[in-house]
Amino acid sequence: MNKKHERTKLILKIIGPIVAAAGLACTVAGFADMIISTNKSEMPQMFWLTILGLPLLGVGLMICMAAFRREIAKYVKNEAVPVINEAGSEITPAVSAVATAARAGGKNVCPHCGKANTDGAKFCRHCGGAIKTVCPHCKTEVADGEFCENCGEKLG
Ligand SMILES: [Zn+2]
Ligand SMILES: [Zn+2]
Repeated sequence: MNKKHERTKLILKIIGPIVAAAGLACTVAGFADMIISTNKSEMPQMFWLTILGLPLLGVGLMICMAAFRREIAKYVKNEAVPVINEAGSEITPAVSAVATAARAGGKNVCPHCGKANTDGAKFCRHCGGAIKTVCPHCKTEVADGEFCENCGEKLG
């Protein structure tokens, strides 16, 4: 993520709501004028505000969507997990692996593929790699790796 891109996003985050608000204001003003004019049996004078306001509102909302996409994605991820699976093409497998691990509370994450497994699982259900192993020196069940996390001896 480069700085220029971040600045562009920041500008969009400011411009988006302003354009959307201006569009909304124009639309509302145009509609209000139309209603008032209809009541008075006059031709609406400011109907062009609605015609100008609607596309402005649309463009403003589109800018907001583009600028806040990461925030929206983050919100969606936290609030509605099934939705994120449908939008999965946006998210790289690495990110979803981290998300799975985070959902599992970081417990029993496979050291080989990084995916979460059920508590107490000795082997990964995603890649078959060993997660837990019994140290041949101190007989303690430890996380799979080069050395025992309990006694420091090299694991078999
Ligand atoms: Zn695995
Ligand atoms: Zn040990």
